[in-house]
Amino acid sequence: MRRGILILQKPKQPSRKVTVRDRSVQSPRELPGLISPAFVLPCKLELVSIFIMQLNNEEIRRYSRHLILPEVGLAGQKKIKATSVLCIGAGGLGSPIAMYLAAAGIGKIGIVDFDTVDYSNLQRQILHTDADVGRSKAESAKETIAGINPNVEVVIHNTAINSGNAFDLIRPYDIVVDGTDNFPTRYLTNDACVLLKKPNVYGSIFRFEGQASVFAPHLGGPCYRCLYPEPPPPGMVPSCAEGGVLGVLPGIIGCIQTTEILKLAIGKGTSLINRLMLFNALDMKFRELKLRRDPKCPLCGDNPTIKELIDYDQFCGIVPPSPEENTGHPDEVTVQDMKKALDNPSLGIKVIDVREADEYEIAKVDGVPLLPLSQITERFTELDPNQQYYLHCKAGVRSLKALNFLRQQGFKYLKSVKGGITAWSEEIDSKVPRY
Ligand SMILES: [Zn+2]
Repeated sequence: MRRGILILQKPKQPSRKVTVRDRSVQSPRELPGLISPAFVLPCKLELVSIFIMQLNNEEIRRYSRHLILPEVGLAGQKKIKATSVLCIGAGGLGSPIAMYLAAAGIGKIGIVDFDTVDYSNLQRQILHTDADVGRSKAESAKETIAGINPNVEVVIHNTAINSGNAFDLIRPYDIVVDGTDNFPTRYLTNDACVLLKKPNVYGSIFRFEGQASVFAPHLGGPCYRCLYPEPPPPGMVPSCAEGGVLGVLPGIIGCIQTTEILKLAIGKGTSLINRLMLFNALDMKFRELKLRRDPKCPLCGDNPTIKELIDYDQFCGIVPPSPEENTGHPDEVTVQDMKKALDNPSLGIKVIDVREADEYEIAKVDGVPLLPLSQITERFTELDPNQQYYLHCKAGVRSLKALNFLRQQGFKYLKSVKGGITAWSEEIDSKVPRY
């Protein structure tokens, strides 16, 4: 759940499965009404919230603006207090989700995150402050939540969710909220929620765009696999670390997810079950796609073939590092090798930076010219196919793509610099800023 962000895919067969309806000008008349299909609180929870759950005087004062809403009221606030939510990721999406859930009085919030706070998180991950850099995100989240509302029970899971622990992590909670930033975790969360019959409140963001929905086949809606049966090929969709994200965007999408959680808790309003909300911050437009459960879905369809959790790295085409890669991938060199090449022109090796011009402006290695990956198909003829090149990018992914492209064009002597300019900054020259 690094950085709490994601990556958008195109929904499956939009022409057949979904219809686009512009809801950018939403009439207030369209909204209220009973949830249908209703999220029915388990009887136990209903009884607890109505007959046992009490609010003390401090809580009554704290939640007064909820209590005077007829749709919430005392009964609704007790249901919110009786609800537990597992938040997968304490990053960009997890931040507003956990903070607003805490402020709203959700009884128990579980936080799953194994990562530590980095400076590059602070532009959007408002759970964490400057003083938290280097600390565990889960610990930092717990502290922030306690500062907002000490009535909330916070359970931190300082671990990565995986096929081995997902059921145990999710089972104790009423609702799961997806604040992940990678496909294996997203499919894992979806599958575990469907198999355990837990609503999965989904959100994802990338650059200026985001989307949100509620996946709950047991309540009549589709699951994530109905929309996206296959993950994109690895490396095809850049992560936010590669592609960037507007800092406020997870705030908007995370708040939509939080709104859906609160509506599920109180059983009011029209939920995002069967709907995918799409948001574009640059145009400031919301759109909506109608969704349907896919009867052929391997997970929630009429004849499901997935009945237990699988290997999600393998499903998403992510190959675990092999012993060979640990000792050196045949196409990769280290930043130390790159330094040798730059220090010793007699070696006859040229280093090329394949990042984009904006990134080159932020940070560059002296003496390394730029040939952006986005221009390489037109400009590769500027290079000599018989020359030896080391290619570097930010982290070593795009340089491998450039290498593969150039190799197809007949270039023979190519290496990709493992870790890119980030590794250069960490291992060779800390004056080069990391971004
Ligand atoms: Zn499905």
